[in-house]
Amino acid sequence: MAEDFLPYGRQSIDDDDIAAVAQALRADFLTTGPTVDAFERTFAEHVGAPHAVACSNGTAALHLAMLALGVGAGDTVIVPSVTFLATANCARYVGAEVVFADVDPQSGVMTPEALEAALARAGDARVAAILPVHLRGEVCALPALAQLAEDAGAVLVEDACHALGSRARGLGPDDWTVGDGSHAAMACFSFHPVKTIATAEGGMVTTASDALAGRLKTLRSHGMVRPPGADPWWYEMPEIGFNYRLPDVLCALGLSQLKKLDGFVARRRSLAARYAARLRALSPLVEPATTELWSDPALHLMTVLIDFETAGRTRAAVVEALRSRGVGSQVHYIPVHTQPYYRQRYGDLDLPGASAWYDRCLSLPLYPAMRDADVDRVVDALGAALGINA
Ligand SMILES: *Cc1c(COP(=O)(O)O)cnc(C)c1O
Repeated sequence: MAEDFLPYGRQSIDDDDIAAVAQALRADFLTTGPTVDAFERTFAEHVGAPHAVACSNGTAALHLAMLALGVGAGDTVIVPSVTFLATANCARYVGAEVVFADVDPQSGVMTPEALEAALARAGDARVAAILPVHLRGEVCALPALAQLAEDAGAVLVEDACHALGSRARGLGPDDWTVGDGSHAAMACFSFHPVKTIATAEGGMVTTASDALAGRLKTLRSHGMVRPPGADPWWYEMPEIGFNYRLPDVLCALGLSQLKKLDGFVARRRSLAARYAARLRALSPLVEPATTELWSDPALHLMTVLIDFETAGRTRAAVVEALRSRGVGSQVHYIPVHTQPYYRQRYGDLDLPGASAWYDRCLSLPLYPAMRDADVDRVVDALGAALGINA
């Protein structure tokens, strides 16, 4: 019997999610209805943030964050090179320039040292915002990054698209949750199907600031405001915004998914622990990406670092061999500074940490519906693909 194909990630949608969407479809409002507020409030409670503002996807969340801060032409934004395109693109949407930071070659995230080097490279440029990415769900050293940002006169915005449910312990005086607003002005989340919860397309910005929350809400709906005491039909547009709303129907899906968040995260952690144990048989050719002691990641991705050179196999050959055994994999990510658009704009950069990460990284299947036996199957397939007799 052919075994199921295991993709590197996928959503978990059950009958209760479908029922929640069906109920929203029968209600009065498909777009701006009561479920938007309910999803925002519940999401804010989950991450411990005072405010959450829903929007159409994670890219829109990042764009709104830049707009809410007033980042624009003449400004510079620092972004780690190992991330999805959107983290850098949001700076370009508002006309700001990007300085790419290097990452730690073992964990893939921007360390305080890498940020310091990027700030030095930025020179006299006006650095308006810094966007650490909690890659895979691994928690960045936010207290130290926040201090560097403050010293540079820049605002810290977390790209938390991988990190819904990630926590930090013993990093700063109190424990904290990614996106709770304790160390960064805003945090941006995505509900793309491979992320921790799914709304098809969907995103969220969390913040502790009343003022930023108000601006985010205005900017996601054309920049329209209704001044208090104005006529009932009156609206004004003091500045230009976008239509980045998340419909009521998808908020109903998000609300239903949030009920299962703790279970999703627990299952991801349990699968990752099984991977870690089984992968020891493939060490030292294959090592899981590093998790720092303070980091209690929700683990969006199960990324391993593979010494392809010593194994005598190309990554393409390993990806193909895995695929032939029904195992999907993905590379997170091609360093963004090497994309033609950015190379044309900023020339060739030497970021050795990002290059070393990129040369070795491969993300293996990880999603809540996987069984323990699936992990064993993936590790066996990887061993075979690398010619290791575990
Ligand atoms: C998914 C993702 C985004 C963009 O989110 P979309 O919802 O796909 O627009 C941004 N940054 C990172 C790190 C992501 O993984």
